[in-house]
Amino acid sequence: MFEILIRNGLVVDGSGSAGFRADVAIQAGRIAEVGLLPAAGAATIIDATGLVAVPGFIDMHSHADFSLPVCPTAESLVHQGITTAVVGQCGFSPAPLLEETREQAIRMMEASIGRAGKPLPWERWTGFKTYLEDLSRTGTSLNVVPLVGQGTVRAGVVGFGPGPATPEQRSRMREAVAQAMDEGAFGLSTGLIYPPGSFTQTDEIAAIARPVGDRGGIYFSHIRGEADTLLTAISEAIRIGRESGAAVQISHFKVAGRKNWDTVERALALIDEARIEGLDVTSDLYPYLAGSTALSALLPQWAHEGGKEAVAKRLADPGVREKMTVSMQSEGFAKDMEWDRVLISFAPGKAEYQGRYVAELARDQGKSPHEWLFDALLETGLRAAMITFMMSEENRLRELRHPAMMIGTDGMGYALSSSMSEGLPHPRSYGTFPRLLGHYVREEKVISLEEAVWKMTGFPARKLGLRDRGLVKKGHWADLTLFDPERVADKATYVSPHQYPEGIPHVLVRGMFVVRDGVHTGARPAGVLPRQ
Ligand SMILES: [Zn+2]
Repeated sequence: MFEILIRNGLVVDGSGSAGFRADVAIQAGRIAEVGLLPAAGAATIIDATGLVAVPGFIDMHSHADFSLPVCPTAESLVHQGITTAVVGQCGFSPAPLLEETREQAIRMMEASIGRAGKPLPWERWTGFKTYLEDLSRTGTSLNVVPLVGQGTVRAGVVGFGPGPATPEQRSRMREAVAQAMDEGAFGLSTGLIYPPGSFTQTDEIAAIARPVGDRGGIYFSHIRGEADTLLTAISEAIRIGRESGAAVQISHFKVAGRKNWDTVERALALIDEARIEGLDVTSDLYPYLAGSTALSALLPQWAHEGGKEAVAKRLADPGVREKMTVSMQSEGFAKDMEWDRVLISFAPGKAEYQGRYVAELARDQGKSPHEWLFDALLETGLRAAMITFMMSEENRLRELRHPAMMIGTDGMGYALSSSMSEGLPHPRSYGTFPRLLGHYVREEKVISLEEAVWKMTGFPARKLGLRDRGLVKKGHWADLTLFDPERVADKATYVSPHQYPEGIPHVLVRGMFVVRDGVHTGARPAGVLPRQ
């Protein structure tokens, strides 16, 4: 007699091998048997005829740490079949916050990614350990794999200005990273287009990533450029891995900007070459052609110096505006930006901007796109966000087929109820995994179902060193997703993102239903995973 028996599903076990017809028995949170078990009984029996049973999906790039404390049920992620999320990405982790710059660091993070409705309970988190304990105590509907953010650490030790850290500051940052690793971080993340990460030199990052390499951890990077500096940015990430000894994960892989699209082959070859050299370099992507980030990311790097107040002061100064415009036209994220392809997705206090393109908004107000942007940043307290259409479908197919590519939402956990359904977040927060299964596997046949499942489960579990997750295998934790291969589909769109996907009736975490018959049960059986 088992607790749960999933009968007659097609098991695609996450190893990449062919699916097979089997029953899956669950007992005490773990997979007790996989096979044909006609005589077995269970308290709960799920008829999985016509469904595929797979390991729960592992989201390799999540910002759910900015939503879980206020929305631990993470509906938009859990409904996709995600059972584990790697958080603390792009250089931003909510801890450790050092006393001196605490207030400023909080404002920086809220402006960059804190867009998930309610404010976070920052005051409770005095260190990385207390933060992780807090997350686990509250209980979450999915497992959390935490990283420590280099931007957070540098903001605490060096502040928000440019320039290299002193040797003393370097060793303090190194210690902070070492301590976070010892308290449970799986690695270090950087966001090298966001200040203060963007002010950091390569050798400084490699130096503070040493404790990560020493402990078998991973260096996750939102690299320094995804457009015309993509190749040097990938090389930098690989160099940091080589020098620190850390494994490397290149986050949300993309080739941005029409005129750079043909560098995709070279970019992927850099990853291949590093792997041939023996380095553990992998990547992840979300299956969409648009990216999304803070609107302020369009400003030149020097304009971010000194934190939020300093930026606001610059934005109000006509002379500095002129200088910023010149910089933006010659370098950085804003260079070659097609303003009719930049959609405003979040604008607190200026809801009328949401869902409209910058070119159109600027034209309406009789302003240049740059002037409109400066005004809009001031009007929204620098908290506005955008969606930028900058990728090629042809490249996406090639990237998806690449053997080092995994999947990550780059999103956070929203819910249709309450304040968690404000603004127009990128649809990836609701649709990444079902979109891959429905659109790219079933309709476009870009990769096989088994290969897709491997990229979403067994492969990331191996990278993260999760030895008892990522496979449908006896003894593994019963993190399981059941979906209908004929119906699974994303529903979220850019203009109407707050929609759960279809065709994923059951999701289990640690042997408990978090989604049953398509409905979130409210269960929060999970917390932070230990590094193994
Ligand atoms: Zn990022």
